Amino acid sequence: MLGPVILAASRSDRMRRLISAAPVTKPVVDRFIPGETVGDIVPVIRDLTGKGLEVTMDVVGEDITAPEQATAARDAYLELIGRLKELELGERAEMSVKLSMFGQALPGGHELALANVRPVVEAAAEIGTTVTLDAEDHTTLDSMFAIHEELRKDFPQTGCVIQAYLFRTEDDARRLAAAGSRVRLVKGAYKEPASVAYQQKHEIDKAYVRILKVLMEGEGYPMIGSHDPRLITISQELARRAGRKLDEYEFQMLYGIRGDEHLRLAAEGHRMRVYTAYGTDWYGYFMRRLAEKPANLQFFLRSMVSK
Ligand code: FAD
Repeated sequence: MLGPVILAASRSDRMRRLISAAPVTKPVVDRFIPGETVGDIVPVIRDLTGKGLEVTMDVVGEDITAPEQATAARDAYLELIGRLKELELGERAEMSVKLSMFGQALPGGHELALANVRPVVEAAAEIGTTVTLDAEDHTTLDSMFAIHEELRKDFPQTGCVIQAYLFRTEDDARRLAAAGSRVRLVKGAYKEPASVAYQQKHEIDKAYVRILKVLMEGEGYPMIGSHDPRLITISQELARRAGRKLDEYEFQMLYGIRGDEHLRLAAEGHRMRVYTAYGTDWYGYFMRRLAEKPANLQFFLRSMVSK
């Protein structure tokens, strides 16, 4: 019941100011967002990749209000890619981007987001890696898929995310499961109305399995973005049935969630990519993590009370 309330708060400016300023917030935030600057995050990348994991890097930020912020987002990713070049990790370190941080919601936002994200995709390709376009709320997705298609003309390895809770996603998966595509399937983290999305966990889980089957049986490269133990076992079985080798799909999980499982899957020979967010504009990302698991909120509230 709390999840939707927290998701509503994740879009509130008043709550943003309150929570961002509370000194007790920081230690709880650090669990999910292990740094604010590129300098903070390089040791984290070294540590994760040193353990046999791969990473996808997210400079946190979304829902910007001015074109200069979109340019700043582009530059933050370019700075990161500059540092990744020195680490020579190739596709072991890729990027995840939210198009709302690149100006998608501003006037002329579709073109603005495409113009700002293209140099990031180009720079990533130059160092032998790629970019995945995150999925945000359902109103942004037609634009996201169109930008994805446009970028793939020059950079076919550009990935995108699809969300199992949306009714549309099974059709999107069929369209996307073609040779050369890279598609991350997640359950979905936004507050969506019943007119477009399943609301019950069991319905979302069932949809996830149906869609994953489409991806596994298709010709693209499925990226399984989930911490759900049941879905991970099912994914392994679907991959086996589809005749996929271990390097023909990958698991992805968020930094700070089920870290032992990251290492277990990697030790089994799976490709395991850790979605690692950093930066100062962490509010929206952090609130979605609280909404996903009520225990996170309890921990957060307890730490506020005990101060
Ligand atoms: P759940 O059923 O929510 O969780 C399964 C188990 O995982 C829980 O029982 C718990 O043990 C653990 N767990 C899950 N979440 C948390 C948490 N926050 N804190 C502590 N434990 C937790 N969503 C989008 O809408 N767009 C995206 O682009 C997107 N990208 C993602 C990228 C990656 C790599 C991952 C892993 C998730 C992404 N998500 C994205 C979020 C996703 O939609 C879900 O909200 C999130 O993954 C929780 O769902 P779950 O599949 O882990 O299953």
